[in-house]
Amino acid sequence: MSYVKVSQLAKSFGDVTVFQDINFEIEKGEFITLLGPSGCGKSTLLRCLAGLNQVDDGELWVDGENITDVSPQQREIGMVFQSYALFPNMTVEDNVAFGLKMKGMSKPEARSEAKKMIDLVELDGKEKFYPSELSGGQRQRVALARALVVKPRILLLDEPLSALDAKIRKSLRQQILNIQQELNLTTVFVTHDQEEAMLLSDRIFLMDQGSIVQQGKPEDIYTKPANEFVASFMGHYN
Ligand code: ADP
Ligand code: MG
Repeated sequence: MSYVKVSQLAKSFGDVTVFQDINFEIEKGEFITLLGPSGCGKSTLLRCLAGLNQVDDGELWVDGENITDVSPQQREIGMVFQSYALFPNMTVEDNVAFGLKMKGMSKPEARSEAKKMIDLVELDGKEKFYPSELSGGQRQRVALARALVVKPRILLLDEPLSALDAKIRKSLRQQILNIQQELNLTTVFVTHDQEEAMLLSDRIFLMDQGSIVQQGKPEDIYTKPANEFVASFMGHYN
């Protein structure tokens, strides 16, 4: 069995179906990109993986465990959002250590674990800074450190680069990839940006209107689009 297995996942809000019949498997250490146009259901699917939204149907398995009904806190999943969602009144160090303290880790130990992650995202020296004193890219690195510090089984990234300008976006993109490889982290990255998906992913899951219409390696999605939507979305206009 694969490290992550999702079967027959479905989610509606009222009588609006956001997605249905979602099936995929992910191997340990894979970098998956959930790619698709705005409104196709990417964020909702990611929130369901994190347990922030309940699913209506289907099952979610991680490492042989059925986590469909497990609370978000106990899923051991880290998440980074497009907007940083840091605590504005806490220093970088306290933001990163927060999850560990919630888990009951002692203060000195939490601080030492937080320091390792702050170094990993190359923010050493910024421990005592507040979010308002950091650039957008730096804040997003704090959010990444905060997600990683609890040693998640899966890292979920919802358009973490979208709010950043082009140069910072490029460097953070590379940094995410380096860390992902170094930690062999199973990652699901959400974007509507084809170029990001092509550059980062082991495999791409391409979504359209609440369905995954194609799963495959970037080059296969690009050269062998499964239908006209995929072809046009990947930039073939013929
Ligand atoms: P994406 O991230 O791909 O842009 P979303 O998952 O945010 O797409 O949204 C998919 C659809 O679900 C949209 O039509 C959106 O309006 C709807 N939706 C998302 N969250 C809610 C909610 N909490 N209540 C009602 N509808 C929602
Ligand atoms: Mg979204």
